[in-house]
Amino acid sequence: MHDHRKLGRELELFDTDPLVGAGLPFWLPAGAAVRHALEEYIRELECRAGYQHVYSPVLGKRELYEISGHWAHYRADMYPPMDMGGEQVVLRPSLCPHHAVIYRSRGRSYRELPLRLAEIGGQHRAELSGVLGGLSRVRAMQLNDAHIFCALDQVAGEALAALRMIGRAYQALGIEPARYRLSLPGPGEKYVDDPNVWQRSADMLIEVLASAGLPYEAGAGEAAFYGPKIDVQVADSADREVTLSTIQIDFYGPARFGLHYIGADGGKHRPVIVHRSIVGSMERAVGHLIEVHGGAFPGWLAPVQLAVLPVTIGESPQAAAFAGLAEERGLRVQIAGADRGSLGSRIRDTRLVPYQAIIGEREAAAGQVALRLRGGRQLPALHVPSAIAKIAAQVGGHSTELWDDADLMAS
Ligand SMILES: [Zn+2]
Repeated sequence: MHDHRKLGRELELFDTDPLVGAGLPFWLPAGAAVRHALEEYIRELECRAGYQHVYSPVLGKRELYEISGHWAHYRADMYPPMDMGGEQVVLRPSLCPHHAVIYRSRGRSYRELPLRLAEIGGQHRAELSGVLGGLSRVRAMQLNDAHIFCALDQVAGEALAALRMIGRAYQALGIEPARYRLSLPGPGEKYVDDPNVWQRSADMLIEVLASAGLPYEAGAGEAAFYGPKIDVQVADSADREVTLSTIQIDFYGPARFGLHYIGADGGKHRPVIVHRSIVGSMERAVGHLIEVHGGAFPGWLAPVQLAVLPVTIGESPQAAAFAGLAEERGLRVQIAGADRGSLGSRIRDTRLVPYQAIIGEREAAAGQVALRLRGGRQLPALHVPSAIAKIAAQVGGHSTELWDDADLMAS
């Protein structure tokens, strides 16, 4: 596996600058394209699963985090508060409190449950500078987060559905879990003290893992401060495990924020919150993708999806026209013109690009392109519209395969 810190810089995906600060990477255009594709995919996946997206600010009053319990149990990982006109505000360490406030911004009925609020939003962690590097340990991150507010009898079904979404996303991303961990509390004040509630949540998560048929290992001292969680662990380039995805069951937050809904019986009931993240933070997810794929991303994620290579200057107009049509279809395209060296060297320079379209004199005259897939496979010449349509279909289906021969024969 590749080290994303080195490869990510070589491929100009992200970088850091001492003037911005340690643990505060910025995304360069190629990395931003990958992240954007990932965010779009996640939003679409969530929309289709009945989630609603919200936006909320990266700051909140200190009081908000006193109510959520972060101030008492998680302060060591938070930035110090800022004084603002007689109040104190803090950079948020998680999105949960904002979403709890959104839930209670009006009355809720059992008919609205499960209410699934999702956001790809910023949060901050006061990491020590010694552990920072690349995208996996950062001080500011964009989390793929969601909170499902539901009735007790809906919890297991929602958690299981989230676990299945994780599996589906991993398939599209071409990544594999190293193992599933049931993260339980350890000793000390980091955890809310209510053994019955911990046991109840842990039992529910064990049931979810059992119905998904997934083996797991228990990890003491790895829970969130308010509840146990299922962590999906992946291995990094140094064979260390990091957590990418999580599912948590929380009885504590709803009580702290006084959340309720009106049940079918007309009475007030307390919802449960299922916290879940499908791919974790954008930083950690893309860092992992760089390591797993060595920069050769699945077509739908690639910063440049299609390289257009005119054999000589003579085919430049056809190359520009082809690139323009592909861009109109939403593909990310780069023209590697004849002024940039021999065809062989341009093929090598664009070797990480999933599709290379070569246009020589013969193709130009026939309105065709010769497609070459990453890895070297050459396809018979295709007419321009069908080449673009096939690439767009393959990429639009979030496939990790670059070509579908069955599809080609059928059309
Ligand atoms: Zn949460």
